[in-house]
Amino acid sequence: MINLRGKTALITGGSRGIGRATAIMLVQAGCDVAISFVTHEEAAREVEQTARQYGVKAMIVPADLADRRKTEQMIEAVVRQFGRLDILVNNGGIWKKAAIDTMSEQQLQEMIDINLKGVFYAISAAVPHMKKQRSGNIINISSTAGQRGEAFHSHYAATKGAIISLTKSLAPELARHNIRVNCVAPGWVATDMTFEALAAPDADKILSLIPLGRAGTPEEIAGAVLFLASDLSTFITGEILNVNGGAVLCG
Ligand code: NAD
Repeated sequence: MINLRGKTALITGGSRGIGRATAIMLVQAGCDVAISFVTHEEAAREVEQTARQYGVKAMIVPADLADRRKTEQMIEAVVRQFGRLDILVNNGGIWKKAAIDTMSEQQLQEMIDINLKGVFYAISAAVPHMKKQRSGNIINISSTAGQRGEAFHSHYAATKGAIISLTKSLAPELARHNIRVNCVAPGWVATDMTFEALAAPDADKILSLIPLGRAGTPEEIAGAVLFLASDLSTFITGEILNVNGGAVLCG
């Protein structure tokens, strides 16, 4: 039922984890994909090669989301190569620990620059193209942390909460241009980002707060992104799709 043939998508931070799984799932639905990377060029090339095996167009593009010019150039490069941009998945991000009373200016700035300003940069560069096309689909990756907070990660949680209000603001702002804006909010997902935390001796505490009793897989998040990217969700905009094993219910 899901057919994205003829559509193009850009997934930021698509070389690994949730971004990689999303890229591959969109490709399996027939979508042409671009993935951005910062340092993992080899991993990005592997995703590009895998994508091409499905007979779609694929490209990789370097871009540090903290850099406005580079992020704008990323969008321009994709539109130049594919001729259009239908789906933008704002996935790239960082998760770091810092207590509020010792958080440095640099730690705070880095988190805001990548997780929040980078999403603003990508969307503001993509929207003029989507307006011209009279269609577009923006999917932002937030987190359970953005809804219920996360101790010792307040800077991360604040950026992810902001992603939710950004989504809710842009949905009505862009609806008249046939651009949908939605959000997927994952709970704990087993990726490089969470590897240490989920392998720690006290990881049971994390799992005990997830009703389904386990961390999710990147593919389980990608499935939600695919749904929002597809024509199964054409009447959904401004929505926050929780994919967390029930975790947000357990504070
Ligand atoms: P990951 O660390 O495997 O992937 C993060 C991706 O972001 C990588 O590809 C990385 O290169 C990219 N990235 C980092 N800094 C960047 C920068 N400056 N510019 C551009 N890209 C940058 O982690 P993941 O779990 O796959 O995370 C993907 C998204 O999901 C993130 O936004 C994360 O906050 C969110 N998320 C993850 C979890 C989880 O439990 N893993 C939970 C909730 C939300």
